[in-house]
Amino acid sequence: MYPPNFDYVAPTSLDEACAALAGADNAKVLSGGMSLIPLMKMRLVRPTTVVDISRIPGLDTITDEGDHIRIGAMVRHAQTASDPLVREHATALAEAAAATADAQVRNQGTTCGSIAHADVAADQPAAVLALGASMVAASSRGEREIPASDFFVDTLTSALESDEILTAIKVPKGGTSVYRKLGRRGGEADYPIAAAAVWVDAGNGSVSDARIAVTGVSSKPYLAAAAADAIRGSDGGAAAIDEAAGHATDDVIVLEDLYATVDYRTHLAEVYVKRALEAALA
Ligand SMILES: Cc1cc2nc3c(=O)[nH]c(=O)nc-3n(C[C@H](O)[C@H](O)[C@H](O)COP(=O)(O)OP(=O)(O)OC[C@H]3O[C@@H](n4cnc5c(N)ncnc54)[C@H](O)[C@@H]3O)c2cc1C
Repeated sequence: MYPPNFDYVAPTSLDEACAALAGADNAKVLSGGMSLIPLMKMRLVRPTTVVDISRIPGLDTITDEGDHIRIGAMVRHAQTASDPLVREHATALAEAAAATADAQVRNQGTTCGSIAHADVAADQPAAVLALGASMVAASSRGEREIPASDFFVDTLTSALESDEILTAIKVPKGGTSVYRKLGRRGGEADYPIAAAAVWVDAGNGSVSDARIAVTGVSSKPYLAAAAADAIRGSDGGAAAIDEAAGHATDDVIVLEDLYATVDYRTHLAEVYVKRALEAALA
């Protein structure tokens, strides 16, 4: 199916892009197009203006900014998966990017696009939640930073305003992180039925800090606070990991669909939190 008619603009500066978004009634940012174009073709999304940000210079880089790394809006999944800075300082995000879809989608879709899209089962949101990342949003009103913990509001709904562009993700350095998932077709290269990202600051037989995030399980990716509380301050041993994994779905409504019943998905969330913790604390 073809989408309804729309205006297409491809600005070459961030200011122009922000102005185009501010000046249109129902505009959408286009980055990789891997989710927006199918939605437009199915007529589930009908923007009157599409603002293509791919020609804006400087958005396709990953940079070392001292205490954090910065991943620009046009960085593709494949770049995130293989970049040495991301692999070292944001391993969970590199692993999530590597486990996303197939090579074609990874070469076209962007990490920021995936975060902005806020799909209930996307891989990247769990990683940025666990890593304690923040999102840099720009508009003609200026720039602001949104912590990952405030960013995912509901299904396909983020904290971005309609005139804001997610220009970068900032990931603080430090700690150890991993991402583990069960993809819909059994392997990794598909949306997860359940997946977990874990970040820990651990050493000398104790876990001083931890964040655990889960995706594919509820109406939005979430921080499993009770699971993190259970592992934080523990010795990081098998009993503590089991205890933490048992809290993977506390306080959330677990989704049921054609891939999993509530019981099965709850079990998978616990299994993948356990596997991620085991890997992070190994
Ligand atoms: C066959 C297939 C398989 C897939 N499998 C997986 C998978 O296994 N795991 C997974 O996580 N994802 C999967 N995806 C989704 C893929 O990762 C997309 O790349 C991602 O969801 C969106 O990124 P994009 O750059 O293509 O964004 P686009 O499609 O361009 O945009 C998506 C949405 O986000 C908004 N947006 C995009 N960029 C910005 C920005 N910088 N600022 C503000 N708003 C923005 C757009 O307006 C739109 O609403 C799959 C997609 C396909 C087609």
